Amino acid sequence: MGAAGYVTGSRVLIETEKTRVYVDAGLYQGPKYIEEKNFQSLETDPSKIDAIFITHAHIDHSGLLPLIVKKGFRGPIFCTPSTIKLLEILLPDAGRLQEEEYKFYSKKRIERYELTGPLFSEEDAHKALSFLKPLPFGEKLKFRDITAKFYWAGHIVGAAYLTLKTMGKTILISGDIGPRETIFHRQREKAPQADYVIMESTYGNRFHEKKDYETQMKKAIDTVTRKKGMLLIPSFAVGRTQLVLYVLYRLIKDKKVKPIQIFIDSPMAARATRVYLEHPNQIREDIIKGGFLEFMKSKAVQMIESVSESKNLNYFNGPGVIVSASGMCSGGRIMHHLFSRLWDRRNMILFSGYQANGTLGRIILEGASRVKIFNRELPIRCLVDNINAFSAHADQDGLTLWVKDLSEKMPEKIFLHHGEDEAREMLKTRLEEVIKSKIEIPRTEDVYYL
Ligand SMILES: [Zn+2]
Repeated sequence: MGAAGYVTGSRVLIETEKTRVYVDAGLYQGPKYIEEKNFQSLETDPSKIDAIFITHAHIDHSGLLPLIVKKGFRGPIFCTPSTIKLLEILLPDAGRLQEEEYKFYSKKRIERYELTGPLFSEEDAHKALSFLKPLPFGEKLKFRDITAKFYWAGHIVGAAYLTLKTMGKTILISGDIGPRETIFHRQREKAPQADYVIMESTYGNRFHEKKDYETQMKKAIDTVTRKKGMLLIPSFAVGRTQLVLYVLYRLIKDKKVKPIQIFIDSPMAARATRVYLEHPNQIREDIIKGGFLEFMKSKAVQMIESVSESKNLNYFNGPGVIVSASGMCSGGRIMHHLFSRLWDRRNMILFSGYQANGTLGRIILEGASRVKIFNRELPIRCLVDNINAFSAHADQDGLTLWVKDLSEKMPEKIFLHHGEDEAREMLKTRLEEVIKSKIEIPRTEDVYYL
């Protein structure tokens, strides 16, 4: 129903003799022609869906829930307990963004999608939250003629693969698959055996480079320490921020850099970090034993909550580090830090991942000498760098190994989902070299009888 040929909008409808469930209910995100898909009416009347399973909290897997509930869905939404905690943070925020976007476009009288209101509101999101039901990792749930179970996927906190056993067959849905060697999260579980597999293929055509992120981070901290400046790290709130904090912690603990004050200035990142700290079993064991939790609770890391505290950071003399959202500088508190710091040579911006075309992050990273922020044109005089080595997804090798790990009996069919066509085609070719299963590349609304 979604993400067939795309990396957002994940949604699969599974029907048995007695039951109809969605696995994931994601929002399409990205350029206008992709986001427009959100506004096309739901193909299946949501009131006729009996239950929804959510593999993890990322909005491209969960962000359609408020709309589905608004349109009449009234069943249980099953996900892991830590995913519930994240959804409580992410869904209301998504609702707020939809409302703001609608206001923005209606004010400018831009005809967009012929809408008479936002896609969904913050209130719709809160309503959707009331349908969430926890299903812990490894526990079996019987729902009508389906038995469901979640497995740890090593992608973000709460992220799971899901098996649905029904009518004598097992279907495995991968959600997003974590990399083989994780820096921060606990290693993904071996995927269980299944007759049919629906798997993600985001990086089906790519190979992650092994770059030395520690050296890059050390260089950045040494630089701002020497210049008594501030290091600004724009970062996604869930997963990436915590990974960045871990790398900072490692450098300080191993005495590779001088101790430095760290601020997390994003209410969402602060809340997501707390979810991680409450679920240390989803972080690598050696990190927990090494004292990461104690470090996070120490004075070395300050979580900024209120707007006035955030503004006061402008008066903080370096050296220091500010980790703030959004990761591509398309909004959030990072904007006012850029506004007050990027014209100063003592400071540095260190991006923590891919910067999409058209974002302010991309413009800065590509070496612009001036940018416009809050309607003021500012010169960029600070240093700029990017750490590209952080990925929460498996690459082609990682995905292939994930399939090989299905061991003894290979699935009858594998459906490549949640990936662009080129990625799906290349992964298909690769998988056909190593296994005998039939590999399918479904299109939106294609129907398969299993
Ligand atoms: Zn994800």
